[in-house]
Amino acid sequence: MDRLIKRGIIQSNICSLCERDAESHTHLFFECHFSMTVWNEVMNWLKFKWRTCNWRMLLDWYCNRLRGRGFKLKVKRMALAAVVYNIWKERNNRIFNQKKRAPEQIVRDIKIGMYSVILNNPLMPNEDRDCFLSL
Ligand SMILES: [Zn+2]
Repeated sequence: MDRLIKRGIIQSNICSLCERDAESHTHLFFECHFSMTVWNEVMNWLKFKWRTCNWRMLLDWYCNRLRGRGFKLKVKRMALAAVVYNIWKERNNRIFNQKKRAPEQIVRDIKIGMYSVILNNPLMPNEDRDCFLSL
């Protein structure tokens, strides 16, 4: 929206999630209190120390610290993708479909999605499944 308003294509760039601040990619995914709530709740659920920050740190985290095959690394990558996807989906649903979910509902949907993927994987080792279920 920040790019569209600079070109005069739209008149308002108010964030559809918090309905208060201007929407930019940094605001939408990291600075918005709505998005922060979702990020931090998912990180709390998974007992990860990481909290919302910015794109540069996130990319560094994803490309460098989350490399590898370990189960916990896979879960972290999955959580990161799920949060970004769900925030973007929520933003688009509010703009194009006039449908709103509360942050708690989005966190619940992320949990259901991750449980579904992990627990329905027939190749998932039992120890990894048990580790995930203990969260
Ligand atoms: Zn916002």
